[in-house]
Formats: sequence, C-alpha cells, structure tokens
Amino acid sequence: MSRADRVAERLAERELDLLLITDLVNLRYVTGFTGSNGMAVVGRDVRRFVTDFRYVEQAAQQVRDFDREQGPQDFVTALGDGWPDGELRVGFEDQHVSVRSHGRLREVIPDRVELVPAGGIVEDLRAVKEPGEIERIAAAAELADEVYGLLREQRLAGRTEREVAFALETEMRRRGAEPSFPSIVASGPRGALPHAVPTGEAIAPGTLVTLDIGARLDGYCSDCTRTWATGDLADDLAQAYELVARAQAAALAAVRPGPEGREVDAVARDIIEAAGHGEHFGHGLGHGVGLEVHEGPRLARTAETRLVAGNVVTVEPGVYLPGRGGVRIEDLVVVTGDGHRVVSGTTKELLTVG
Ligand code: ZN
Ligand code: ZN
Repeated sequence: MSRADRVAERLAERELDLLLITDLVNLRYVTGFTGSNGMAVVGRDVRRFVTDFRYVEQAAQQVRDFDREQGPQDFVTALGDGWPDGELRVGFEDQHVSVRSHGRLREVIPDRVELVPAGGIVEDLRAVKEPGEIERIAAAAELADEVYGLLREQRLAGRTEREVAFALETEMRRRGAEPSFPSIVASGPRGALPHAVPTGEAIAPGTLVTLDIGARLDGYCSDCTRTWATGDLADDLAQAYELVARAQAAALAAVRPGPEGREVDAVARDIIEAAGHGEHFGHGLGHGVGLEVHEGPRLARTAETRLVAGNVVTVEPGVYLPGRGGVRIEDLVVVTGDGHRVVSGTTKELLTVG
C-alpha cells in the first residue's frame, strides 16, 4: 500500500473525504516531492498534486501516481476548481496553516467544500518508520558518530565553542550531509542551558562540554548528545555525569513496543528525582526523529501515545546545575518488534578530551 493509500485509509476514520496537504515535510513524505512549493489533495480516488512552474520538471521525476498540475502564479487559486462533485469534507493541516492562509483557502475554495482541521494524519504515519527510512536514519547516525570520532582525537580546551561547532558541521558537510539542527557546544556554566548557542569563549580545562549534533542525510535526520570532560572534574559534575548515565541506561532498557511515552520518561525522571535533582531535569526525555529532527512520538511527562515497532526516538535525560555546568546523554533508538536497537554508536563512558 502506498503512503497516499494509507492517508486515504485514515480519512475514513475521521469522516473526511479528502486531505489537503500543504506542509512541505508531509508533502515530501506522501508524494516524494522535495521542492519548496507544492500541495496535494488525497482521497480514496483522488491523487492531485500542484506546484508552480519552477518545479514542474522536478515533480515529473519525483511525484509518481499523482495527477500533476502547474498552478497559476497565485498558487492557491488552483484550488478554486478541480474538486469532485457534491458536498465535501476536506481536512487541512491546521497545525501548519496560518490564519491568513486559512482565510485565503476559504476565499478560493467553493462553499460546498467544508474545511475541517485535521492535523496529525500524516504525522502519525510518519512516526512509524519503514525499513528503508530506518536505514537512512541509521546512516545519518553513523555519520555523526564518525564526526564525534574525529573530535575525540583533537582537543577541546582552549578552542572556542564556535570553532568546535564549525568544525563538527564542516565534517558533516564533507561527508555529504548537513547539520539537522544548529550544533550545540556548551562548556562550563553554559552547559546548564539545555539549548545553549555556541559562543566565542574558549573552553576551559577541567570542565564538562555538552555536544549535541545531528546529521541530515538523504532527507533523514539523526540526533546525538555526548558530554565530555576537559580534565579532572569537581565532585558535583562527576556525580551528575554518573547520575545521568544511569538514568539514560535505565530508560533505554524500557524502550520497546507497549509503554506510553510518559512511562518511559518516568523511568529516567524517577532516578534523577530520587537523587535530588528533579528540578534540574526540566525537559522531556525524548522525541521522535525522521524527516524532521523533532517529530512524534514524544517521551515526556504528558505523552500518552504508546510506543510501537518502527518508532525512532531519542532518549536524552539531562541534569543542569545553574552556574556550574550540565550533562546530557542522548541516544537515537529504533523500537523493534520485541525491544529496541540503539543506532548511536559513540561511547557513553565519560571521555576526557583535554
Ligand atoms: Zn540532540
Ligand atoms: Zn534530541
């Protein structure tokens, strides 16, 4: 069954006739189109794809099994006609459509077509990966591991965070990938900021450095965090590392089909709370990774979705000590039929890279 067929199958469950796909990531997933302007309408017997003149050739190569059209200059006006007869309920991706765009759609689309908020249909499909997608994610993870391998052979202390981030991203590009998000290199007290931006400050000796990088290769992302030392550590930092490593290993062991995201989150959170650091772990345990670096399913306190085989998630607890430093350890994990497979290959032992 094609991806578009699976979308059509989901529409019936929501009593929709058609889905209007405008989000470019969802569009890529369903149609194969990688350009920056396009939309699709999918229903049981409808496979309609619209793009503008710049992408007509590209769409001819990428978009199979759809009726392809070139839209006019004002792209959305293509939706003024071409609809099947009768009253229709058409879902739109409400989490991606601005109020302005919705107004424009309503203006152009005939009145007999009811527009129904229907976000998440394609995202739910994307959360369960096909074997080919898992291979690509694993390849992106392996590439990031290679980049970490190179960095291990170098030094950290004395270089600026920005220099290190630039070097990591350059190595990714040298290997045909690009960063799936801006790399994080956070040393010393800045390590206490979970999403620190690399600064021009030199990395100090005897501290922790949180490195969070991901590669995007062939459209698919990876995401991996390691925290390394630049020399002997103060006791509180060494203990934080040991705690996060323990929580991460325990949560990882809980990844399999069945539990809700919040149950896996709780495994790590309970350990960190029991050690008195509950308030220093303020984010969710993990997130899905695929065409986007953050997608479903989530592993978080409020996540009720159950893990199923084919999910690809991160497991990334952290402890952030204000003014002191931080630790985060993040693996990328595939949920398999009876457990999980970790695709991050870089060691989680505390490395000292002086
Ligand atoms: Zn990350
Ligand atoms: Zn992550």
